[in-house]
Amino acid sequence: MTRVLVLNSGSSSVKYRLFDGRRTLARGLVERIGEDGGDAADHAAALRRIMESVDLDGLAVVGHRVVHGGTEFDSATLIDDDVAAVIERLIPLAPLHNPAALSGITVARKLLPEVAQVAVFDTAFHRTIEPAGITYAMDAALAERWGVRRYGMHGTSHAYVSRRTAALLGLAPEAANIITLHLGNGASACAVRGGRSVATSMGMAPQQGLVMGTRSGDIDPTVIFHLHRAAGMPVDEIEHSLTRAAGLLGLTGDNDMRAVQRRRQQGDPAAGLAFDVYCRRIKEYVGAYLAVLGRADAIAFTAGVGENSPEVRAAALSGLDGLGIAVDRHRNEQIAPNERGEQVVSPDGSPTAICVVPTDEELEIAQQSVAALGAGQSAR
Ligand code: AMP
Repeated sequence: MTRVLVLNSGSSSVKYRLFDGRRTLARGLVERIGEDGGDAADHAAALRRIMESVDLDGLAVVGHRVVHGGTEFDSATLIDDDVAAVIERLIPLAPLHNPAALSGITVARKLLPEVAQVAVFDTAFHRTIEPAGITYAMDAALAERWGVRRYGMHGTSHAYVSRRTAALLGLAPEAANIITLHLGNGASACAVRGGRSVATSMGMAPQQGLVMGTRSGDIDPTVIFHLHRAAGMPVDEIEHSLTRAAGLLGLTGDNDMRAVQRRRQQGDPAAGLAFDVYCRRIKEYVGAYLAVLGRADAIAFTAGVGENSPEVRAAALSGLDGLGIAVDRHRNEQIAPNERGEQVVSPDGSPTAICVVPTDEELEIAQQSVAALGAGQSAR
């Protein structure tokens, strides 16, 4: 078996998980990096701490989660100086996300110079979307010059969940049409045809599409001009508002769907509206992606909200019986999952199966890292 260390470096935290094949040997989180009383002074100290606490004997590869791979990367890639330089060059496209990944990569390469390092990009799975699905209808030269287009994110999750969904239903992946709904703190939808992404809701950045914990999802871009001109807000302040103080948080003061649902049940109108906005947006994307795919064998719910909220699953797909889409009330509420936590929650014989499929981005990163290592070695 191959040992793999997966690192997910955020701006103030590093999540890690050590695998031996599919088995998890160790996992943890170093938090509040750089803060007073935090776990570590900087990313270098955080990684040193991780490496001291886990047994790195026999480690074959380190897999790094990188949010933005631009147009340069369509699969997991062995990291050398050139690859690291491209990730750095992509920082303007993902200023909130890529710098942390890059510092994780820099420090890990320094601390483990003998071990192969692989970058696994959130954008890579969506490189199969045709031009019409990724092009914004704007000044083409301007868009080209500045890399403005849809890239899409959560690719490792959509790839993993769509594959698992096909397996759960006994469908050949190359013949299956699946809509995956990743509903966590960040949220996105993806249409997958034959194992390839053909549409996704996130855009140039993880901001477009569904309503999220603190991000707005779709808004008219005019909102930004209006807030700048009429409210006199500087661009940074508008960005902060729409990325950190919007979504469920903006509508209710709570970014956690559990709290929103509790308040909704108690009759809180703001929480009721937020829940409705959240679920309606999902429904609109499901309708759009049904049209893109022509037919869907399955709709799969994943991540914190998707896996744990029967209310959201039922509300997001309500009223779609005419399209062959229905949630079985009993199955949806009384989860009886398989050993991986997966379950079909639609009635038997539905044209479109509704599934709950827990995501495992770290396992997917580990597996893609091993594959990239193998491909790199055979290319040498
Ligand atoms: P993730 O980013 O996948 O870890 O998802 C985190 C989000 O999942 C949290 O912010 C919650 O809003 C949501 N969540 C977790 N458990 C539940 C639950 N039982 N019901 C509704 N939402 C949940």
